[in-house]
Amino acid sequence: MPLVTSEQMLLDAQKGGYAVGAFNVENMEMVKAVIAAAEELRAPVMLQTTPSTVKYGTLETYFGIVAAEAKKATVPVCLHLDHGSSFELAVQAIKAGYTSVMIDGSHESFEDNIAVSKKVVDVAKACGIPVEAELGKVGGKEDDLEAEADTNTDPMEAKEFVERTGVSSLAIAIGTAHGFYAGTPVLDKERVSEIKKVVSVPLVLHGASGLSDDDVRECVQRGMCKVNFATELRVAYTDAGKKLLAEKPETFDPKKLGVVGMEAVKELVMGRMKVCGCDHKAE
Ligand SMILES: [Zn+2]
Repeated sequence: MPLVTSEQMLLDAQKGGYAVGAFNVENMEMVKAVIAAAEELRAPVMLQTTPSTVKYGTLETYFGIVAAEAKKATVPVCLHLDHGSSFELAVQAIKAGYTSVMIDGSHESFEDNIAVSKKVVDVAKACGIPVEAELGKVGGKEDDLEAEADTNTDPMEAKEFVERTGVSSLAIAIGTAHGFYAGTPVLDKERVSEIKKVVSVPLVLHGASGLSDDDVRECVQRGMCKVNFATELRVAYTDAGKKLLAEKPETFDPKKLGVVGMEAVKELVMGRMKVCGCDHKAE
């Protein structure tokens, strides 16, 4: 089917008490693997690309691949711009056919974050495209950006932010970080519940790669409606290729590397979808 927006998908998740898995893809193989996982589990799914990924490919290239694969799928597929770094990039993504965008002004002041997020919302809403924004700082390496010391989201600020910007969903910081964790992350899960009480839109969890299944499950139970997985997909994809090359150094066909990479990513994605509870929600 044609790509769908994230609006209804996330509202359904909010109502149903589960989360939609959002998976970062880097190439055709990862796109195919994520959609194959969604098909097998009858799950709605979001595929997303960061600014560095669209710099590597282009918005049009990723749109082309994802739209072609989604067309064959029988579950809803959404293509989302992850961590949109500017108003211009968000608009370009919509123009290229993306059906959901994030504007990440979390490194700006509260007022500047509101200003840039509202600017994107005004244009996106006119095009029927929902906008995710971020408030508070998710730690670790976030694409090309380095966040400083992580600062968790303040519930009352979140409420004001959503009301003043009109965003469709909000990424909040509760102690997670992008990339992998060196130690065990200290998550402020109670904060998810507190924010859920005062914010009406679906909440988004970033930095879930490397979190335990139990941690993800509890965050979802407390109100996270979209969970992002990026780093661990890249690791699974590349490790499968490394393993094949170690076992069969004579391998030269990229398709052989693609096949094992796709299997590994599909397996991982299916596991994470079950943890998010979005399996069998597309029926
Ligand atoms: Zn993120």
